[in-house]
Amino acid sequence: MGIRHNFPTGLNRAVFLDRDGVINPTVGFDEFGRTESPLRLEDYQIFPWTAEAVKILNDLGFHVFVVTNQPAVAKGKLDLFDLDGMHAFLIRQVRQKDGVIDKVYVCLHHPDPNQVRDKTLLADCDCRKPKHGMLLQATREFNIDLTRSWMIGDTWKDIQAGQAVGCRTILVRNEIDNRGKTINPDFSAENLLEATHIIEREETSK
Ligand SMILES: [Mg+2]
Ligand SMILES: [Zn+2]
Repeated sequence: MGIRHNFPTGLNRAVFLDRDGVINPTVGFDEFGRTESPLRLEDYQIFPWTAEAVKILNDLGFHVFVVTNQPAVAKGKLDLFDLDGMHAFLIRQVRQKDGVIDKVYVCLHHPDPNQVRDKTLLADCDCRKPKHGMLLQATREFNIDLTRSWMIGDTWKDIQAGQAVGCRTILVRNEIDNRGKTINPDFSAENLLEATHIIEREETSK
């Protein structure tokens, strides 16, 4: 298990990770040309560096949370059994390298009645990034100091959610979903492992 450091403020620090494109590859493109989330458990694989990256963050004293939009559930393209299986697989793979993901927060909603099949998930919710409801929920549940925390994501929505709550932000490469968007992250990185090394450098150079 990763070592948990205690801080004098009594507040915890966190790194919030977007899922698709950061923890795991996407699996193609949807009808709008955007990258597509894995829709079946058997399509779910994590990047080879994900577990190591989480372990590094744990050892720096961070809680690690996943914050992910999965509107395919509302659209009836992904079922909860497969989604839960993906996250169980992720947590297991990370744990094999002694890394700990404290919790996976998922937004299952979508606001467009023309696309939503499960009407109980039709919502203009506060959790769907670029809104920051999932980050606030983690903050309440785990006593997080957001100003000493980080958000790592591959789209403008992730960066906007992190900036809204005062986190420092790192954008992982994704040209497709960020076409035409102006994004001003604190740092940019090729992938999650490189992002982790940026945090390591920033946190240990103080
Ligand atoms: Mg993503
Ligand atoms: Zn939501």
